[in-house]
Amino acid sequence: MKQSVKLIAGNWKMNGQTDGLAQARHLVDALGAEPASCRVALMPPATLVSRLKNLATGSAVEVGGQDCRAEPEGAFTGDVSAELLSEAGAALVILGHSERRQGHGETDADVAAKVQAALRAGLEPVVCIGETLQEREDGRAVEVVRTQIAGSLPESLADRAFAVAYEPVWAIGTGLTPSLDQIGEVHAAVRAALVERLGEGGRRAPILYGGSVKPGNAAEILAVDEVGGALVGGASLKADDFLAIIRAA
Ligand code: PEP
Repeated sequence: MKQSVKLIAGNWKMNGQTDGLAQARHLVDALGAEPASCRVALMPPATLVSRLKNLATGSAVEVGGQDCRAEPEGAFTGDVSAELLSEAGAALVILGHSERRQGHGETDADVAAKVQAALRAGLEPVVCIGETLQEREDGRAVEVVRTQIAGSLPESLADRAFAVAYEPVWAIGTGLTPSLDQIGEVHAAVRAALVERLGEGGRRAPILYGGSVKPGNAAEILAVDEVGGALVGGASLKADDFLAIIRAA
C-alpha cells in the first residue's frame, strides 16, 4: 500500500549547537516559498525543542523530541518526560532508536512504556525497529522486526497517530543501505505485523525507512512500496540536503 502523505523526519541526535537554528530557519523559509508535498519534522536535542518550535511556528515544520522517560515527573536527574517535551512544543517523539536500545540498554518493554507515556502526553510516537548486521547475515531481519513490533508497540496505538521507522542498525551513520528489494521485503513484513497486531490502525501508520538516507538515494528509497517516509540523521543537519530529501518525497 502506498502512503499518500509521507513523513520526512530529521533526527539531529546530539548536534545542532552552533548553526542548527540557522539551518532550521533556512528550511522554514525555503518551505514557506515552496511548500512540501509531505509532512516535515525536526527532532533536535531537548534543549532546542522550545527554540525550534518558536522558530517554526506558523510554518509546516513540526518539532519532536528524541526520547522520553516513561514517568510523567519525579526524581530522575537528567531525564525528560513526554509531558515536558510537549510543554516545550514537541508534537512527536522518537522512541526505541538503536542508539538508545544499544547504548542505554532499552528493552522492547521499556520502549512500550515510553510509547504509553508519549500517548498520555499527546505526542505522536515514532517507534524505531531494525536488525543488527549479524541478525541480517543470519537471515533473521524479518523475525527481529516482528519481535520488536510485538514487544514495543502497545495495543493502545490502534486508534492513535504513530509511525514506525525501520532502521537497520548497520545502515545508521555508515553510508551503507539495504538493497531496494531488502527494504521492500522488510517494509511489507512490518505492515503485515502492524495489521496483525493493531487491525485497521496498523494499516494507517506510515512506515519510515531510516539509515544513510541522502539526497542521492532518497527518491529511489521513497518510491519503494510501503515506504511512508524517512527518518534522516546526518543529512538532516544541513538544510539544503534535508530539503533535497523532502523534495524527493
Ligand atoms: C538515524 O539516526 O535515525 C539515522 C537514520 O541516521 P543516518 O541518516 O545518519 O544514518
